[in-house]
Amino acid sequence: MPGSSRKLVAGVAGILAAGVLIGWIYGHADWGLLVAALAILFWQLRQLLAFNRALHMRDFEQFRYGEGVWQQMFARYKYEHERVLRAKRDYRRLLKEIRRSTDAMPDGAVILDENNQIVMCNKAAKHLGGLKRKKDRGQRVDNILRDPKLAQLLRSDSYAREIEIPSPVRDEAWLDCRVVPYGANQKLLFLRDITERIRLTRMRRDFVANASHELRSPLTVISGYLDSLSDDPGLEENWGQPVRQMQQQARRMSTVVNELLELSRLESAGRASKDETVDVGGLLAAAKKSFQGQDGVAAIEVDSLSKAQLLASGNEIESLISNLLSNAVRHTPAEGHIKLTWRVDADGGEIIVSDTGEGIPDDQIPRLTERFFRVNRGRAREDGGVGLGLAIVKHVLGRHDGELGITSELGKGSEFRCRFPIERLVLEPPVPIASGDKRG
Ligand code: ADP
Repeated sequence: MPGSSRKLVAGVAGILAAGVLIGWIYGHADWGLLVAALAILFWQLRQLLAFNRALHMRDFEQFRYGEGVWQQMFARYKYEHERVLRAKRDYRRLLKEIRRSTDAMPDGAVILDENNQIVMCNKAAKHLGGLKRKKDRGQRVDNILRDPKLAQLLRSDSYAREIEIPSPVRDEAWLDCRVVPYGANQKLLFLRDITERIRLTRMRRDFVANASHELRSPLTVISGYLDSLSDDPGLEENWGQPVRQMQQQARRMSTVVNELLELSRLESAGRASKDETVDVGGLLAAAKKSFQGQDGVAAIEVDSLSKAQLLASGNEIESLISNLLSNAVRHTPAEGHIKLTWRVDADGGEIIVSDTGEGIPDDQIPRLTERFFRVNRGRAREDGGVGLGLAIVKHVLGRHDGELGITSELGKGSEFRCRFPIERLVLEPPVPIASGDKRG
């Protein structure tokens, strides 16, 4: 028992004993005990009320000195109070430090709660996204950074994705947005200035487009002269082979230039409109017709499992099918088999081009859609491949909210799946009016 408590017990016992003694002298020991107990109770009650008042007024003058139990209680209270104050001070200092370091970050960081409301943001978020630290606290971030792509990113759970949005504060500036899950149901939204990257990408795209455009006219002239030369009966015999080779190379250069121009166009165009309805089954049948029957071409089968139509650009879907089919034809031996499928399920539609050809090594599959990438450079050059076909396919799909899936096994064959979302489909195309049904 601490000294103060022992003193209190001894004091109480002493007062009670004195009360009993005085009462006994007057012939009423019980009365003496009662009066002494009441006196103790009254005194302790007074001390309690005084301590309570001191707590409210924060004035502990009367409890500051001495060794009683109330002084001990004050000392304990003071110690705990100072400990809490110290912890608070440390916490504030730490918070300030964290804020200072996040403010030094060049990227914007915004803490969001489960309703996408802003809890806190750093200085860069203010410069990049126009967020105001105090004023915007508690506001939904998608009400301030208004962009449908960002709203979709915040709704979805796919945190690996990054999106690019125009800056809400600076013209011509672009931001990269990324969401990372954080704490319990909280998210961190990162904003990065990618204006320079976008500017360089645009410069590269414009350069490629301009260079290709400038090359087109001289190439047409050169090809024209070479065609006339090869048709000229007076051409010396030893010139025949070189002219044919020049013709071949000029054709190859034209293919490269045209495909580069097509890629530049696809890159600079936004999402494809949904104004046109495309009969995919019809396009597959037409593509089969244009390849089938040529020398050394494998058997081509068309399997249109759905009558659904695609809301897409007809020319681009035609180019997508033609690129995939021409690849399948070039990489499948004559005795092989190529299948073109159009199928629809609950989530969307798929154009599948599969073959029983040479296949592609696993480690090369992720690189197939890179420009000028060819698995076997030497052979691809011989068979006329320039390495831009799958890049075009990828861009066409990107413009139509689609995705490309590739599976392949060396020596067994390959499968290219072009998947379109359900919003791009007309599941029940209107029945065409037969000529007899036409009314005046
Ligand atoms: P290319 O003009 O060379 O065909 P692509 O971009 O269309 O360029 O294709 C890139 C590379 O992918 C090709 O060079 C080829 O090696 C490989 N490839 C594409 N399709 C197939 C396929 N069906 N079977 C085997 N390899 C393929």
